Amino acid sequence: MTSAPLIRTALGFATAVATLAARPAAAQKDPPAWTRPIAPFPIIGPIDYVGTDGLAAYLIRTPAGAILIDAPMEENAALVERAIVARGVKLSDVKFILLSHAHFDHAGGLAALKRATGAKLVVGVGDAAAVNTGVPPGETSYGVIRFPAAKVDRAIPDGGRVTLGGITLTAVATPGHTPGCTSWSMTLPHEGRQFDVLFACSVSVAGNKLVGNKRYPRIVADFRRSFDRLGALQPDVVLPFHPESVDLMGRVRRNALIDKAVLPKLVADARTAFDADLAKQRK
Ligand SMILES: [Zn+2]
Repeated sequence: MTSAPLIRTALGFATAVATLAARPAAAQKDPPAWTRPIAPFPIIGPIDYVGTDGLAAYLIRTPAGAILIDAPMEENAALVERAIVARGVKLSDVKFILLSHAHFDHAGGLAALKRATGAKLVVGVGDAAAVNTGVPPGETSYGVIRFPAAKVDRAIPDGGRVTLGGITLTAVATPGHTPGCTSWSMTLPHEGRQFDVLFACSVSVAGNKLVGNKRYPRIVADFRRSFDRLGALQPDVVLPFHPESVDLMGRVRRNALIDKAVLPKLVADARTAFDADLAKQRK
């Protein structure tokens, strides 16, 4: 089949959005990269990549245990578990699982990972109900793709903090893609100075209904506020949940991870795609 990029691909990044409207939902398969195993690898400092080829999960090791960010897709849970162990972390040492947002391709493995680790699950306030029920928030052009519900231990507001073993992650509310879409920021000592790292939640429209979205009426204002907010940040390292959106694997290979220009470009491109999509939906 030559029909990629597929519906579900479009969930995560802006470039595929233009194709979305033309494609029937349901009939599409997920991109193979989303479940394609890859060996886990170190990214920077205590941060490891433990996701699949096409969907990120990040592990942050601390002296007091580890933090996992995202649990991409139900069928990837065992793979993520193996990746964590392969990085030298016992599953029972994972103390927190944080989430970017409540879509099946990022939250689908939460229930299984929570069972396997006993970790506390921390989710942005606006997505907590979705994770508790397994029903994604808002209205989209591709319908409702459920995922296994997982009990949220802490619904975290903007500016909330998760601290473990000297590492602090701060929730940066970046709603729009979902109402509780949360980016996570941390600083990291590396090669003699402090680095800002941002685990960036998705900023693509990706089939979201921008006009007449009854379950998420303030979606347009939220997107715009998040573009403004993220566009003003210049983290040294951007770690997204769709790795290809910043060519993460290529950057790791080329040792080009540290680059303050990455986020401003990502946001500028997303804003352009958003404006085009909104204009189209308003027609
Ligand atoms: Zn999404």
